[in-house]
Amino acid sequence: MRRLANALRNRGVTRGDRVATLAWNNHRHLEAYFAITAIGAICHPINPRLTRDQVAYIAGHAEDLGVLFDLEYSDLAAAVAETRGKLLVNVALCEQSELPADTPANVVPYETFLETASDNASVYESMDERTAASLCYTSGTTGNPKGVLSTHRALVLHAMTARTSDLFDLRPTSTACAIVPLYHAHASWGLPFAAAMSGSALVLPGLQLDGSSIAETIQSRGVTLANGVPTIWQNLVTYLGSVGQTIPSLKRIVVAGSAPAPALLKSLENDHGIEVCHVWGMTETGPCGTSGAVLPGAAADTIEKKSKQGHGLFGVQMRISKEGNKHCPWGEEHIGALQVRGPYVISGYFKQEGAGAVDSDGWFTTGDVASIDREGYLKIVDREKDLVKSGGEWISSIEVENTAGSYPGVSEAAVIAMPHERWGERPLLLVVPTKGAAISADDLLLFLSGRLAKWWLPDRIIFVPELPKTGTGKVMKAELRKHYSDVEATA
Ligand code: ADP
Repeated sequence: MRRLANALRNRGVTRGDRVATLAWNNHRHLEAYFAITAIGAICHPINPRLTRDQVAYIAGHAEDLGVLFDLEYSDLAAAVAETRGKLLVNVALCEQSELPADTPANVVPYETFLETASDNASVYESMDERTAASLCYTSGTTGNPKGVLSTHRALVLHAMTARTSDLFDLRPTSTACAIVPLYHAHASWGLPFAAAMSGSALVLPGLQLDGSSIAETIQSRGVTLANGVPTIWQNLVTYLGSVGQTIPSLKRIVVAGSAPAPALLKSLENDHGIEVCHVWGMTETGPCGTSGAVLPGAAADTIEKKSKQGHGLFGVQMRISKEGNKHCPWGEEHIGALQVRGPYVISGYFKQEGAGAVDSDGWFTTGDVASIDREGYLKIVDREKDLVKSGGEWISSIEVENTAGSYPGVSEAAVIAMPHERWGERPLLLVVPTKGAAISADDLLLFLSGRLAKWWLPDRIIFVPELPKTGTGKVMKAELRKHYSDVEATA
């Protein structure tokens, strides 16, 4: 890291400069995170699953002055170079011998780049804690991606909270596995920073994220803690069930990004003995905003409590706001817009500081619709844009998905709105059956009708082999809406 910091400085990278990365979870990418920020520059990881045009837009908006990339993303790195003109740094994260023959002359292999520099630690700067450190763009499902800039202070405070039993519960004897990509939400939800702070070992699993590869990584490395979106854990549970394998080293997982089905939580906790910490957050909130740690005296059914999105982490305030910015007391009956504020919640988007996402008191409007119960547990009803608005009332896609997910033979479920002449919108349910399961739409509907309000029942059920996912493994509802835009409701 010291060598990389010196090499960057020798090329002219200095305080405030943005240096992009296009890479998966590997040790060189991790070194880049620490080295770039240690000299006061800003690490800007770009999601390599984006298109060339999106990458070019983001690099242009961020005004990146350098790029470090895994070889498989050479073309995306070329897009950064084309958009930005002459870069101070253009580094392929590999050794000299791995560099393909047709690589442009200005691209330097990482290990050669390091050899050019000393490992003098004086390159690490002493700087104000509010110096910017990390720039991550949100996925931009509505409009262009927006930049979330975080300071050293925000990352350190987040890591101090994240290493506790509220979240990752790390200690020097822990082995943490960062399954969430390093490019997502300030480095795999801040796990590498929390691990470094705690002296924990850190395992970087690369790109192999199917159930079998994850089980093998956990077993061979003795992983005790891992993070991931629900799809990752669903795949793991399905795999373990199919081969009858156990992974006793894994004591705890942190799940966030979208709502895990109660059936999945039950299976992880009861069948596999893994403690699940369910967290809510966004890139804009550091990213972790809540903790699923069960409070003393909580209602008996812990799975029901754990299905909620938890209570605010230390320093994070949450409130529910109704039309006209009226703030509601805690109570499940009050459903409205979720607003949060705290030491690592954004104060405005990069280059759009005055655009109104955050009010003058620091409250950030999240775009989620939620309630907070009397014990302080958050319950996300839906993303505002994913709610199905039927006859002026809303239907929670998450709740319909969770209920469908508890039907035997359902591996995954997604609900989207389809246009309806009379009701405005009606729900369409897409179901991925588990391998070999034969489910009938009528039986599934019958099951749902005993558990959901009649008008929440999907008008159509379509069986699909898989659902489109983002690089982090979240279902891409915008894609689904586009794909099924001509499906007509029948009710
Ligand atoms: P994007 O997906 O837009 O890149 P994020 O990864 O920051 O950005 O996603 C944040 C959103 O993910 C939240 O606003 C919320 O809707 C959803 N989300 C995150 N965690 C949870 C959770 N535990 N349960 C339900 N939804 C969640």
